[in-house]
Amino acid sequence: MANTYSIGIDIGGTNTDMGLVRDDGKIIDRNNIPTNVYTELKPYIHDIMECIGKLMKDNGVDKIEGIGIGAPNGNFYTGCVDNAPNLTIKGVLNFEEEMHKYMDVPVVLSNDANAAAFGEMVYGGAKGMQHFIMFTLGTGVGSGIVVDGRLVHGSTGGAGELGHNILIPNGRQCSCGRKGCLETYTSARGIVQTYCELKGVPVTSDINSKMIGDLANQGDPIALKTWEVVADQLGLAMANSVTFSAPEAIFLMGGPTKVGEPLLKPLQKAFEKYLLNIYEGSCKIRMSELKANEVAILGAAALIKMKK
Ligand SMILES: [Zn+2]
Repeated sequence: MANTYSIGIDIGGTNTDMGLVRDDGKIIDRNNIPTNVYTELKPYIHDIMECIGKLMKDNGVDKIEGIGIGAPNGNFYTGCVDNAPNLTIKGVLNFEEEMHKYMDVPVVLSNDANAAAFGEMVYGGAKGMQHFIMFTLGTGVGSGIVVDGRLVHGSTGGAGELGHNILIPNGRQCSCGRKGCLETYTSARGIVQTYCELKGVPVTSDINSKMIGDLANQGDPIALKTWEVVADQLGLAMANSVTFSAPEAIFLMGGPTKVGEPLLKPLQKAFEKYLLNIYEGSCKIRMSELKANEVAILGAAALIKMKK
């Protein structure tokens, strides 16, 4: 049988990455353009479509199944990106309509965390799973929830924002305007803040979560304590999320999860400690099986496998 192909697009504030993805999850070729030089949608889409055309031509592909897009505030229902704060193109942007002027293939959007979760199901460690949750730890904390093999979008398209569950009322200031969200504690920045608080030093830009991970793996007691605190907070959030959809697994991805033992060991303990007894042993903690530099493209490409 001939291979089929799709296009995955990862829209970031700085760069727009595109990849030609074969059905077995191999990224055949990729390309990118800057995002932040555009202030209008039309020329931006024009240049994206030109890149897609080139990717196809260079690789002898004359037909694609569709275009999947992971974007901040990407709306699955409308095909639009709704007022993304980190984009230089402002307003509600109808990607689907604009792309259809160039190519008559399905165009599917979702936010990047949802795309990552769906990518795990189509191409990664969640293959064949019907129920799982993905937490992505990075600049923020994203999540995607899969129930009955379908990504949960909710009534507005905005489902799966577990990073903005309030963990500590009146806690740390969150970018969403409220206080105490999970992401203010377990994002890369939140982890740095916890470390600095434990160490009694001001937060500076030369301390990052990777460094705190390295220190912990060398046995530094404050770094180890930091990961224990983070594990307790994340473990609580994960255990609470299990009551919502009884997943078979919770997947973790993102830079801070790469620290290994210093996070994962106390995380398993905290998760079990907080888990409601009826779920005991039913939900595993797993690491994403997708490569960090491929997940955004693969997740986006996977979106077109989802039926509207
Ligand atoms: Zn928040």
